Amino acid sequence: MVGASVNGVHPQATVDLALALRAGGLDATEIGRSLGVPKSTIQYWCRGGRRPADPRAEPPVCPRCHEFPLDEFRYAHLLGHYLGDGHISISRRSVPCLSIYCADDWLGVRAEVMASMSAVMTASKVHLVARTGCHAVKSYTKHWLCLFPQHGAGPKHARPIALEPWQQEIVEREPDRLLRGLFHSDGCRITNWTEKQTESGTKRYEYPRYFFSNKSTDILGIATTALDRLGVAYRRPRWDLVSVARREAVARLDEFVGPKY
Ligand SMILES: [Zn+2]
Repeated sequence: MVGASVNGVHPQATVDLALALRAGGLDATEIGRSLGVPKSTIQYWCRGGRRPADPRAEPPVCPRCHEFPLDEFRYAHLLGHYLGDGHISISRRSVPCLSIYCADDWLGVRAEVMASMSAVMTASKVHLVARTGCHAVKSYTKHWLCLFPQHGAGPKHARPIALEPWQQEIVEREPDRLLRGLFHSDGCRITNWTEKQTESGTKRYEYPRYFFSNKSTDILGIATTALDRLGVAYRRPRWDLVSVARREAVARLDEFVGPKY
């Protein structure tokens, strides 16, 4: 439970959080349940009962709450990483924190995630926090809930993950950026090889291929829809795996994904 009330008055941070969740698409019942606040109170806040006296007090920072431009190119990339290896947690001070985990083996990928996070929410600083074998790229603001309304309790594969219509539009405009984020978080590019005897001696043949693996069928569906949109052929060798192995399909992904680096 976030932000217990003191003498029946909920802290402003809880009100702000509820309004951010509402902007992200949750209804009053869902918000009330996740914050431990009665639904009627949430509805009162959403009607404007507890808005700050001057709504312009906060400088414009959020593409959903304010007239603030969204860098869709960077957002689609960040969305891919969020769906792959990201989550939003609520700090003890009721401030939502977006974390994306990046393995220490791929410093280039991590730098890109930091750049995208910074470009999407320009007013919030990006931090690096060391974990075992990886770093969490983190940024604090309640507005991450507006930009990633897929936030919810429990792991992503244990609940439905559906894109909001405005996210769907961005993904349709930037499917390659989304796929770059997805494959660079939960995917890989590997090279299989075989040797064949020819008249001129032993020849080595290499077969690069991409895999994307995820335990959420919804996220797998988001990935394959983007592949379909770009005409990239794939197979589903296992329920939790997408494989791209045909030569021309691999070449197409190489144009905008490529190996982790
Ligand atoms: Zn917002």
